[in-house]
Amino acid sequence: MLSHRAKVLIIDDDVTTIRMMADSLSPDYEVIVATAAEEGLRQARTAQPDLILLDVIMPQINGYDVCRRLKADDLTLKIPVIFVTALDAVDQQTKGFELGAVDYITKPIEVALLHARVRSHTRLYQQTLQLESLAATDPLTGLANRRKFDESINHEIERSHRLQTTLSLLIVDIDDFKAYNDHYGHGKGDDCLVSVARLLKKAALRGTDLVSRLGGEEFGIILTDTDRNGAQVIARHILDLFAEAAYPHIKASMHPYLTVSMGFVSIDFANLTDNLPDERALIDAADKALYRAKNGGRNRFCYEPWPGDTDIEKWA
Ligand SMILES: [Mg+2]
Repeated sequence: MLSHRAKVLIIDDDVTTIRMMADSLSPDYEVIVATAAEEGLRQARTAQPDLILLDVIMPQINGYDVCRRLKADDLTLKIPVIFVTALDAVDQQTKGFELGAVDYITKPIEVALLHARVRSHTRLYQQTLQLESLAATDPLTGLANRRKFDESINHEIERSHRLQTTLSLLIVDIDDFKAYNDHYGHGKGDDCLVSVARLLKKAALRGTDLVSRLGGEEFGIILTDTDRNGAQVIARHILDLFAEAAYPHIKASMHPYLTVSMGFVSIDFANLTDNLPDERALIDAADKALYRAKNGGRNRFCYEPWPGDTDIEKWA
């Protein structure tokens, strides 16, 4: 399923070399070019190529430094880099590998060799991405799975702390799902999970929101740069979407249609009075609120204050 044409970024200050490589590769690849290091770094971030052919000798910033910066940036870290260099001394080539390059090509460029290397590394990279995506996906709903959730929340805690921003976690649980399965059967139960996943995606649609299936009928939504009020807006929106969709659930305890209960927690990292929270603490807090929402009659959300919150009374 490697359907899309692989994208190759060439970074080289020599226009003749660029033209030669681009002409040779463009029948088989989508080729983008940059004649300067900064431009190349920007292209790598925005175009997300499947491979970078990187010249070593360039004015201002050389290829080694470009490679270092690519490997230090989350957005470009994984993109394979092949050094293109006239320097065929062993120590120079070794240096490229040490910086994380996957291969090197020496100038003057042999076209057959260029093609062979580009083909094998773009394929390998696309296969790796595909496997990573499979390993991060819940097969039934297509949402992120628990593993991806764990990875992301730890990353977001670290990021929110570094940038002193806000982070919210919303846990969503389908009400009376056991009764649903018992009555409608497990096939319909699966369909129900897929529908719920779709509604949750609709409610949390920013590119940075991560909706995941935590297991069973429980879902987690990571909301970056979102304070308590923002999280509340999304939780309310979710309740509205379920009311609007009105999926039949005749065995539900409180309503004739499918509903969810939610618990959430929001942390303002700029006003954190306690230690840096970990994933467990966040989930436990949101779970506590979820428990109250269930006991309070379902089809609702509750909030768990975080130590240091200044206006807890408002939410008591
Ligand atoms: Mg050069």
